[in-house]
Amino acid sequence: MTENPAASDVLPTSGDKFRAALFVGVVVYFCSIFGILTSPPGVLAAYWPTNAVLLGILIRRSRPPNWLDWLSAFAGYLVSDLVMAHSLSKGLLLICTNLPGVITGYLIFSRQPKPYRTLRHPRAMPRFVLGVLGASAAAGTSGIFVHPILFGGSPAYGFAFWFCTELVSYMGILPVLLTMPNVKRWLKDHRRRADWPSFRLDLLAPLLAFAVSLGLGVHWGGPGAILYAVPAMLWCALTYSLFATAGITLFFCMWTLLAISSGVLQIGAAVDSPLAVMSLRVGLSLTALAPLTVASVMVARNELLERLQHAASHDFLTHVLNRSGFLTQAGELLATPQLLRHPVAVLMMDIDHFKKVNDTYGHDGGDQVLASFATVAQSCLRGGDLLGRLGGEEFAVLLPGCSAQDAYTIAQRICDAFAAHTVALRDGRQLNNTVSIGVCCAPRIENDIAAMLSAADTALYRAKENGRNRVELA
Ligand code: GH3
Ligand code: MG
Ligand code: MG
Repeated sequence: MTENPAASDVLPTSGDKFRAALFVGVVVYFCSIFGILTSPPGVLAAYWPTNAVLLGILIRRSRPPNWLDWLSAFAGYLVSDLVMAHSLSKGLLLICTNLPGVITGYLIFSRQPKPYRTLRHPRAMPRFVLGVLGASAAAGTSGIFVHPILFGGSPAYGFAFWFCTELVSYMGILPVLLTMPNVKRWLKDHRRRADWPSFRLDLLAPLLAFAVSLGLGVHWGGPGAILYAVPAMLWCALTYSLFATAGITLFFCMWTLLAISSGVLQIGAAVDSPLAVMSLRVGLSLTALAPLTVASVMVARNELLERLQHAASHDFLTHVLNRSGFLTQAGELLATPQLLRHPVAVLMMDIDHFKKVNDTYGHDGGDQVLASFATVAQSCLRGGDLLGRLGGEEFAVLLPGCSAQDAYTIAQRICDAFAAHTVALRDGRQLNNTVSIGVCCAPRIENDIAAMLSAADTALYRAKENGRNRVELA
């Protein structure tokens, strides 16, 4: 028995598990070092990224974390504390506030369907906020006990401090991690695609507006200056990907906190009490939710539109283009300037004695023959060729940049391949069919796909008259 390669791909080896756990520990270590270096408690621009990054990594994983991952994360937290001269007891107490939030967040997010988890659903953001509130509340609850011991504050302040710190970092960092494209797959898709989006200056306009509004905020100052960038961020959300929008909103929060704490942005109010610091940080994070919601709804809308467009332009039975899809795409292809100086060929193909197939094998048998023909024909074509089902058992092909001789060869290849192909019906019976093909080639009839199809149809009629299972040139 042959081994299923897909199954062996999915099952991680113990080496994979060890490497994945090691990765978790290393990320936790470096994020914690960064957090300790940049975030003395109470400082306005303080950012503790570790828990949000760890949660993001665990949610994105295709398999649930095991004890090795948790142990590795634990070690990452503890070693970073020890390296930064925290005592062992302090390190352990801090882990008691860090890990409950991550575990709670994981339990909440991992139960959500993927479109919600990756924020690609119109109602994903309310669930995201609830998940983040749950994780932050778990950290806050630990803060009730740990904060008075470590920093001498009241339990209530302990809750508020840990809740807010976690809320701000989850709201900023998690959307970036949850929406980040899979780099390997992204590169592969873009390398394969010939239609790299050409650079367009107007695509930079929302980003430019964002930068200008941040600049205006610095120039004018005052409490309202914090919100100047909101319209530009909404514009970015309508234009860019969800991931880019998440990056822009994270930048907005970090920039505003840094600009206020360094005095670059004068909002005319002192942000010196712990309450004011928390209020500002939470307020900024909540502001960033608006563009994220817009971007999330846009992604869901675009994916729905793509699916609808595909359904409207493709044939349900054979999965090739339907009549209107073929005519539209062929018209667009013929209008491309690069094609103007190259020959173009059109094939009209009609399965022979198809009525008899239906009569002998039933309509369902006929349907299976149609689907088989589409597969066979597609396998004989090149990457840029268009195949469509014009109706019934009639198919058409557009061959851009193809001479009459090449078109004839391709048509003959389809004819021979289909004649040699045995269709195995679902009821166990087998049958063979043939196809007749008419070819029309350049000189192009003024880019008119209808005229080319009509000429190919005349040739097809001749192929039928001359005995079927053959190719005729117009
Ligand atoms: P010829 O060799 O001259 O092309 O003969 P033919 O029998 O293939 O041509 P004809 O145009 O007489 O018959 C086409 C048949 O295709 C008639 C119609 O019932 C059948 N047909 C049209 N659409 C479908 C479909 O979606 N599924 C099935 N199973 N049959 C279909
Ligand atoms: Mg027909
Ligand atoms: Mg026919």
